[in-house]
Amino acid sequence: MDLYEHQARQLFEDHGILVPRAEVTDSSKEAREIARRLGGRVVVKAQVKTGGRGKAGGVKLAADPAAAELTARQILGMDIKGHTVGTVMLAQPVDIEAEFYVSYVLDRAAGRFLAIASAEGGMEIEEVAATRPDAVARIPVDPAEGVTSAKAAQIADAARLPAQTVDVLVRLWDVLIREDAVLVEVNPLVRTAQGQILALDGKVTLDDNAQFRQARWGEQESAHDDPLEAAAAEKGLNYVKLDGEVGIIGNGAGLVMSTLDVVAGCGARPANFLDIGGGASAQIMADGLSVILSDPSVKSVFVNVFGGITTCDAVADGIVQALETVQLTKPLVVRLDGNNAARGRAILDDRAHPLVQQATTMDGAAHRAAELANAG
Ligand code: ADP
Ligand code: MG
Repeated sequence: MDLYEHQARQLFEDHGILVPRAEVTDSSKEAREIARRLGGRVVVKAQVKTGGRGKAGGVKLAADPAAAELTARQILGMDIKGHTVGTVMLAQPVDIEAEFYVSYVLDRAAGRFLAIASAEGGMEIEEVAATRPDAVARIPVDPAEGVTSAKAAQIADAARLPAQTVDVLVRLWDVLIREDAVLVEVNPLVRTAQGQILALDGKVTLDDNAQFRQARWGEQESAHDDPLEAAAAEKGLNYVKLDGEVGIIGNGAGLVMSTLDVVAGCGARPANFLDIGGGASAQIMADGLSVILSDPSVKSVFVNVFGGITTCDAVADGIVQALETVQLTKPLVVRLDGNNAARGRAILDDRAHPLVQQATTMDGAAHRAAELANAG
């Protein structure tokens, strides 16, 4: 689960990393009061779980409490990359002399962590990495050894960060380990004109497996920001929202993942995916289809099933029954293969719904679904 900036800020403060004084509110009136308490001039920051808020107009300097109220009113309710701003954080402005980037991220494949650091912070690190790869240091961190002062000095040195950041790098590691995080990122970490090192922006992703130990975050809100994801989770469905146009239903995580790749290879982008897992009852199909079809960005739906214990005829029955309860509004491309595929295909042929098409191969079906999405 991702935390909001103000929650990350709190964790940094708990672990002795310097942060600007700040308070959070959902009311522009209260923003004025907070600004007064913080000394008048404040930075008003949208609290949404996405980066690039500054570029999107979600981070603004206000000169006095009245301006803070006005700015908060502008930012509250704003849409930033599909996230509606419900709260703002008001922070004391800092005199920035230099901006750095530091993060620790879990490297699952290597079974360790990676420290990523750069003396060119502030902007998006992907951009720096793409244009000036030399400016980004990547140092593996053995989780059993952690970030000692010596390790921190090595990271700071590799990224050409000032020696004062060593202490912050050690404390940031404590945040990662003590708070059960799989990612901690500070961008920017700044050196102020007064020579202090402060964390001005923070991103923390907690390990969902440790949620039972992190109840204080879990109680604040559901893990699902997307309303459809929340609705799907309520029905016990594995549904994930993506950015494209092709809705995807499949059985089994592996097949679903490769379906995403094949659709992308056909020049379309997946809008979402839903893994119906081992079950393919009519109820699951109906629930799944209704979730996928309620996503307005979906232009076509690709059902990709490899029959095993769940047979293709059971899946086909599920689709036919789902069509009784769900009004199909977008073309559905179905590929059934594996156990009882012929019987499954015959069931769908008999139903002969005008919006349902079948394909015998995964590639063929993906091409068709992509074509329909791009045409629609
Ligand atoms: P995002 O990364 O989502 O754009 P940031 O919190 O990093 O949001 O803010 C963008 C930029 O705004 C920072 O790189 C920094 O230059 C400036 N900024 C943010 N907070 C402060 C602050 N408290 N004082 C001064 N400048 C700030
Ligand atoms: Mg930032």
